[in-house]
Amino acid sequence: MNYFVNDKGYYGDFGGAYIPEMLYPNVEELRQNYLAKINEPDFQKEFHQLLKDYVGRPSPLYLAKRLSKKYGANIFLKREDLNHTGAHKINNTIGQILLAERLGKTRIIAETGAGQHGVATATVCALRGLECVVYMGEIDIERQAPNVARMKMLGAKVVPATSGSKTLKDATNEAMRDWVNNPVDTHYIIGSVVGPHPYPDMVSVFQSVISEETKKQLLEQTGSDQPDYVLACVGGGSNAMGMFYHFINDEGVQLIAVEAAGKGVGSGHSAATTALGKEGVLHGSRSILMQTTDGQVVEPFSISAGLDYPGIGPQHAHLFKTLRAKYVSITDEESLDAGLLCTQMEGIIPAIESAHALAYLEKMDFKGNENVVVCLSGRGDKDMDTYMKYFGL
Ligand SMILES: *Cc1c(COP(=O)(O)O)cnc(C)c1O
Repeated sequence: MNYFVNDKGYYGDFGGAYIPEMLYPNVEELRQNYLAKINEPDFQKEFHQLLKDYVGRPSPLYLAKRLSKKYGANIFLKREDLNHTGAHKINNTIGQILLAERLGKTRIIAETGAGQHGVATATVCALRGLECVVYMGEIDIERQAPNVARMKMLGAKVVPATSGSKTLKDATNEAMRDWVNNPVDTHYIIGSVVGPHPYPDMVSVFQSVISEETKKQLLEQTGSDQPDYVLACVGGGSNAMGMFYHFINDEGVQLIAVEAAGKGVGSGHSAATTALGKEGVLHGSRSILMQTTDGQVVEPFSISAGLDYPGIGPQHAHLFKTLRAKYVSITDEESLDAGLLCTQMEGIIPAIESAHALAYLEKMDFKGNENVVVCLSGRGDKDMDTYMKYFGL
């Protein structure tokens, strides 16, 4: 079984590039160049240097002793929360900005929902001195004021998307429109393993540093580079794909992807894509998405902004359909409780996204000595308002 992209841009039944004709030249330029450019020694050197000196990699693989005792297994946390800007998203934006420079681009655009990807993009644009325009739904701009301020301070222009529901999908449409109008000088940095080929593959390659490091660290700490389980939360699926990447062909490693059930899978307020979705086309690729019987995208819901997405990347759809990975879901309440537990047992306040992955440990049955790696995709500073309201702090 091939779990990676084929030369036509597909993962089994999923993937491809479903784009308007006007976008074809931009996407084609990227498709023809991305692998060659990424594999150049000079690119690899600069990418790894920045990951080390600017992002602070390798991120530690931390054996969480008290959680391990509680669950009866060795629980390792892959500390993406310690990265510069507080999450895994910077791994991807560093990679894409180096690629954009090598393609001669001088202007960067991005879409953002909660603003985390917008901040990661504005950060690398400041780092390299490139013009940065971030599209963000008007409603999200109101809801996420601190991230809007960060982007502005970093020198980015934040453009409100005022159509439709004034949220992420409308911001994505605006970014696409911008790219069509500026095909020569502009690169569009997509923030997850979604979008038309080659984005899902490109983003997963940049994020694969997570599992590359994990294997080395496990070997040092346990004597084997194969854990029994790896867990990660899934919005679009980039931290999960980075965490799974170098384990995908090790069939002895069980891959667990944790989606956001929101208020419950059957509640009408959920983002549990594999539980609720059907096959279809979203944001340029064929995948699984939440939709009505006549194919309209259903508005997703999760308390965690990063998981509030109606689809998953095409590689995830393939891992789901082939049963290579197990897809489960966790409710808002379960995730918040797991966030508090991790905070009080390990002294680590996780992002609510990452707390979804931690929450699934409660539902697993361990025999006693399994090695379990959980991707702690980000830190919880950005979520303090939500934690405070829920726990009455
Ligand atoms: C954005 C984000 C996610 C969700 O995005 P993926 O592409 O699914 O990884 C998860 N965790 C954190 C901390 C995020 O900021």
